[in-house]
Amino acid sequence: MSKYSMWKYGERVAVGVSGGKDSLSLLYILKKIIDRHGGSKNDLIAVTIDEGIKGYRDESLEIVKSFCTKLSVQNKILSYKDLFGVSMDEAMVLRPSEKMSSCSMCGTFRRRAIDLAAESVDADIVATAHNLDDQVQTYMINLLAGDVERIGWMYPKPIEYAAGMKKIKPFVELYEHEIVFYALQRQFPFQSEECPYMKESIRTDLREFFNKLEGEHPGIKNNAYVSMMKVSERLRSSFMGPRGDKKCKICGRDSTGEVCSVCKTTRSLLRHASQTDR
Ligand code: SF4
Ligand code: ZN
Repeated sequence: MSKYSMWKYGERVAVGVSGGKDSLSLLYILKKIIDRHGGSKNDLIAVTIDEGIKGYRDESLEIVKSFCTKLSVQNKILSYKDLFGVSMDEAMVLRPSEKMSSCSMCGTFRRRAIDLAAESVDADIVATAHNLDDQVQTYMINLLAGDVERIGWMYPKPIEYAAGMKKIKPFVELYEHEIVFYALQRQFPFQSEECPYMKESIRTDLREFFNKLEGEHPGIKNNAYVSMMKVSERLRSSFMGPRGDKKCKICGRDSTGEVCSVCKTTRSLLRHASQTDR
């Protein structure tokens, strides 16, 4: 965290906590740091997003609630249904075609939902538990989608966005298996159930691909990460202006185009719903 100056004493952090091993470990470690350095109880809040996936999210909501109670950390829960008018289960039925994949819709909604949750609790920082494996996979997803601009935003040094808020990823240089080991060793009660929609994501294929490579060539994932972040840093500094100079004409939030990805997604879902109603 200090390498990229992610967090200063006294800054209030909203941590995205899903109930998985990574986010529970992150919450636990940040709480430990606050306690050790005499921080205040108000410096940390867990924000949890309920996507509305039956049989999957219910287990994790309970896990997060009891974990937060044990740590004496406040937990704020927001749902897609309340924020965007549709749950993930509904979005899967309403989507115009399978080309609109579950995880791309869900990822778009989740990023916005965490921002809204963090703003609603006056946080200075949003922390998420993305690890090195996630980062390598995301780089490839953006590359394969032709989304070069997003690659520039992946570099871990935080940038200020939306009313001075920063986004940080403290686990970005840790392998996924290191965090699993930490969570198991601490006996965290993390979620075991898999999302029923995860098979649609190219991320699963990329995870298997990189794990296979790592098994045959130890260290290759870290090499890939280092190279990818060099590219990301160059992209960020070479052709990107400050974030937030363009606003979505529907919701008024930061956007790279005229309409932000959240409004595009909800519009497309609602349009398809009204066509099928006719
Ligand atoms: Fe959402 Fe995809 Fe994760 Fe399921 S696997 S919770 S659809 S991002
Ligand atoms: Zn918008």
